[in-house]
Amino acid sequence: MIKIIEAKFLTSSASPADWPDPSLPEVAFVGRSNVGKSSMINSLAGRRKLVRVSKTPGRTRMINYFEVALQTNGTAHRLRVVDLPGYGFARVAKSERERWDEMISTYLEKRQNLQVVVSIIDAEIGPTHADQQMLDYLSELRPGVLVVATKIDRLPKAKRKPRWKEIAAQLGLSPDRVVPFSAVEGIGAEEVWEALLQTVRGGRASG
Ligand code: GDP
Repeated sequence: MIKIIEAKFLTSSASPADWPDPSLPEVAFVGRSNVGKSSMINSLAGRRKLVRVSKTPGRTRMINYFEVALQTNGTAHRLRVVDLPGYGFARVAKSERERWDEMISTYLEKRQNLQVVVSIIDAEIGPTHADQQMLDYLSELRPGVLVVATKIDRLPKAKRKPRWKEIAAQLGLSPDRVVPFSAVEGIGAEEVWEALLQTVRGGRASG
């Protein structure tokens, strides 16, 4: 059983100079714009509005950091959840997209305390070309990767398991590296935390 003790917004950064001190392990979330990333983070944190689902325009273009304290079977953990700007949003100028790409890739490549990247896929749509590109890129980096297939509630119950296996096969992953999720039906949060905590070392906190 996972129990969230505390979840709070910490800060936003637009460049490495604004990165918070690297004193806690970080878990970063990436996905296409509108894939359901904000809803997933809120659901994992057990807070309805930690990340505003109706987002302020400024903050969606920055990296947002949240601090989460949680407990599993009596063990306390403290880590940061890092919300990276969504990719693949068509209506942005090329220069701005390049700035985002650079902000995201600098973080993913240079951040020493980044331990896992959660790559979010839409379970109904399946992995897009952009998702596949992101996963190929992530596979060349140091942090571990966990794929979470969200909006699984949009599929009839009988189709969920086959779809999840199909997504894993499309991505060339074993099904245990893909977690089915739904913010609407409250599916998968426990499994995502367990997978993340298994990878996060040094995530234990005394209080
Ligand atoms: P973001 O742009 O990736 O942060 O996505 P949001 O969390 O803002 O969600 C985008 C849209 O998808 C919103 O209309 C949400 O209500 C919807 N959504 C998010 N998660 C789920 C889910 O698990 N199931 C369903 N059916 N819809 C979802």
